[in-house]
Amino acid sequence: MTAGAGIPAEQAWLVAANVVRWRRYGEGGQELRPGTKSYRGGSKVYVIQTHAGTAHEQLTTIGRGRHTGTYITIDMATRNLHTFRAVPVHSPTVLRLCAEADVGGCWTDRQDAEEVAALLGRLSVEYRSTWWAAPHPAPCRCHECLTLSQA
Ligand SMILES: [Zn+2]
Repeated sequence: MTAGAGIPAEQAWLVAANVVRWRRYGEGGQELRPGTKSYRGGSKVYVIQTHAGTAHEQLTTIGRGRHTGTYITIDMATRNLHTFRAVPVHSPTVLRLCAEADVGGCWTDRQDAEEVAALLGRLSVEYRSTWWAAPHPAPCRCHECLTLSQA
């Protein structure tokens, strides 16, 4: 169940995620860049609902932009996000941007958001492993390599 597009809800469940600290970049993914073009590494973003049937490689997100620090709505690659979880959102700004975005709207149901968070968590790992055919640069600070080195 979703809140109607165009009308901000007072509360919604969104899927929060964090931007990877470093992403592989360039030919064969042999270079590393901090965060993404729009977001700082480590920053928290909200994934908002995408139209049914669209692929999950790209997600519409709301987060604080790298340069301005104000909330922006932008499409980004799922592989550059991690730690997806369902969160209740009360921020009027986030809820307004969610309603204004030309997607399905926000989840109002906690269970729906939790199911999507679990799905995106699995898919993001899969996309990171399949996106680059070449081996990781050495040394590498991409999300998988950082996670392994901290284990
Ligand atoms: Zn790596």
